[in-house]
Amino acid sequence: MSKGGLATNLFSHPADILDLILDIIPQGIVMVDNTYRTLAFNRPMFDIFCLPPDTFHVGMDFRDVLRIWARHTGQDAKMLQRAIRELDMPEPFSFEFPQDILGEPRWCLLTHTPLPGGGFVRTFTDITEHKRLEQELDRLSRMDSLTGAMTRRAFDQRFAEEIERARRFDHPLTLLVADLDHFKRVNDTRGHHAGDVALRGFVSVCREEFRKYDLVGRLGGEEFALLLPDTGIDAARVAAERLRETVARCPVDPCAPGQAFHITVSIGVAQLRATDDAGKLIQRADQAMYAAKAAGRNSVRCEEGAVREPCGDAESQ
Ligand code: GH3
Ligand code: MG
Ligand code: MG
Repeated sequence: MSKGGLATNLFSHPADILDLILDIIPQGIVMVDNTYRTLAFNRPMFDIFCLPPDTFHVGMDFRDVLRIWARHTGQDAKMLQRAIRELDMPEPFSFEFPQDILGEPRWCLLTHTPLPGGGFVRTFTDITEHKRLEQELDRLSRMDSLTGAMTRRAFDQRFAEEIERARRFDHPLTLLVADLDHFKRVNDTRGHHAGDVALRGFVSVCREEFRKYDLVGRLGGEEFALLLPDTGIDAARVAAERLRETVARCPVDPCAPGQAFHITVSIGVAQLRATDDAGKLIQRADQAMYAAKAAGRNSVRCEEGAVREPCGDAESQ
């Protein structure tokens, strides 16, 4: 800890041993008194922010330290003001913040512990790698690794938000449940790899055929859900029919000569009602999908008793 230099004989005094420990731990530590005067800090304080070791000195006003930090890490004036205000917080707190260090985005965890009688101790930990892994895990938990569709978990979360939004703005919301036809047979006759290619291809077609704010989720296996915000049942059925037709028309190509094949999909369509939750809406779309299967597959069915849009131009079933 810099309090005027490290002793030459490190083990001559317990305080020197403490200095050594504080200088080799991966956290930056700073201690400040109740007049913002910097009392002590360790070497990693400079390393974490990539600052030259003579940037701060004991006795320096910690608000000046913050000004140097803000300049060096590209923080704006608002962030600097907030950082200065937080020096007077009477309670301990901690938060993570992003910063730009020499052009490289990095994350830091700050903890602030007020001292009895005034002043505080702060620690700074570089959590960039931890954050990168966290973001990667979050991405993996949200995106199905085979098809790129949303996972069930991510889809359910957005589904609930879209239901709330549809109710708040009194907008229609429709759900398509799409199940690939005779997919077991596809795997059995063409192999699992060809099945995987077909699943990926299906999601690509969904992305091409639908708007970018429509949600495509994998409910499981070869069953998918498409959530169409601001869309009534008639428009949704037209979109579902277009999807069905494109899937049936475009061959799946597993990139082996002469191996291209066709698949088909059965789709059920249901529109959000006043008493629905996500589960009920999925259930009705599912039932409609099974009706499409029962009708011979490669077809689209709407739920029973769906409320028609006044200006819907699709012909009724
Ligand atoms: P139906 O028309 O009635 O839906 O018949 P189906 O054969 O599609 O339905 P079934 O539920 O009997 O079979 C679904 C098949 O989907 C079985 C399973 O091997 C396959 N499947 C599920 N997930 C995957 C996957 O990730 N990759 C591959 N290749 N196949 C999968
Ligand atoms: Mg199926
Ligand atoms: Mg299925």
